[in-house]
Amino acid sequence: MAGVYIHIPFCRQACTYCDFHFSTNQAHQDSVLDAMGLELIRRSKELGDASVSTIYFGGGTPSLLEPDRIAAFIQQAQDLFRVDRTAEVTLEANPDDITQERLDAWLDSGITRISMGTQSFREDRLRFMGRAHTAAHALKSIELIAKAGFASWTIDLIYGLPGMDLAEWDEQLTIALDHGMPHLSAYCLTVEPRTALAHQVQKGQVRMPEDDAQSAQFDRLIDRMEQAGLQHYEISNFAREGHLSKHNTAYWEGVPYLGIGPSAHSFDGKVRRWNVANNARYTAALAEGTPYFESEELTATQRTNERLMTGLRTTRGVEIPALEIDALRINSSAFQSHVSNGHLSVTDGRLVLTKAGRHFADRIASDLFVTDDDR
Ligand code: SF4
Repeated sequence: MAGVYIHIPFCRQACTYCDFHFSTNQAHQDSVLDAMGLELIRRSKELGDASVSTIYFGGGTPSLLEPDRIAAFIQQAQDLFRVDRTAEVTLEANPDDITQERLDAWLDSGITRISMGTQSFREDRLRFMGRAHTAAHALKSIELIAKAGFASWTIDLIYGLPGMDLAEWDEQLTIALDHGMPHLSAYCLTVEPRTALAHQVQKGQVRMPEDDAQSAQFDRLIDRMEQAGLQHYEISNFAREGHLSKHNTAYWEGVPYLGIGPSAHSFDGKVRRWNVANNARYTAALAEGTPYFESEELTATQRTNERLMTGLRTTRGVEIPALEIDALRINSSAFQSHVSNGHLSVTDGRLVLTKAGRHFADRIASDLFVTDDDR
């Protein structure tokens, strides 16, 4: 079992909070996409005999491409790999690109799951975040997607916005739930370095909310999703039964995947590699046959810390005997203190965050990290 991630590095405009790799210059779209097709061919042997059970078009904004281009990538993947008949094929789409015609074309090309970057149903919030779509687009597209016939779909929402209160957050969740949303990814707004938002905060133009407000919205999110019957299966992800993201679950479980396109990461079980995050350099390197990626073989220390970091974010938690280095013995006092604070528990040999502990997932994981000197 393996996954293929295809990074489409183009966006219509830059959202203020975003630190992903993308370009708003569409002039070189064809040459970059051609180079990505070349990368897919050159790397097709890397998965060996593994069958591909998930393909994920992320970005950037994959829905900016003509549906034919997406169909061509899917066909190419099917020609090059053994793709399961029941493979989950996800396309990230922004509301301003969603029309009935496009949904039909994506469905015909083999897309099984749409991930819509809604972020908010409110006009003022969308403008604040620099999103290209309007509230009307967001409302129209969720209606269309709910009826389109995909095996699954999901939306992204952002909370923790300046001035957001629980009533506003409730209203956003209600709109989504009223459309029968089977999966939700909800992210707390964070200020990433070198983004427009970081600049606005630094200049005093934007004041970020207190942690308490964001924390209360996270609690409300968990409660609302539980009441609606969605499982909280990863810190930022909720799903009805049968609608968990297979691609992301495999990624959190350390399953190998191939990442295609500028800035895409890959992992083969031992070596992590990442492509250059620059469209022009990527395209030129593919054409010239020169290196376009860096890589590193993970050490036991790194593998242990990654298992802790990604595993603790999921409700399945971390399988303790599978940790290559005994992080719980090495960090026994931090471990005991998180257990006695009611933030961590051990259930059936797995280390799992409690509901209260989900607020501190990253901090708890880093308290349990090991170093090379610990060995
Ligand atoms: S559309 Fe997505 S990838 Fe593009 S700038 Fe906005 S958040 Fe980033």
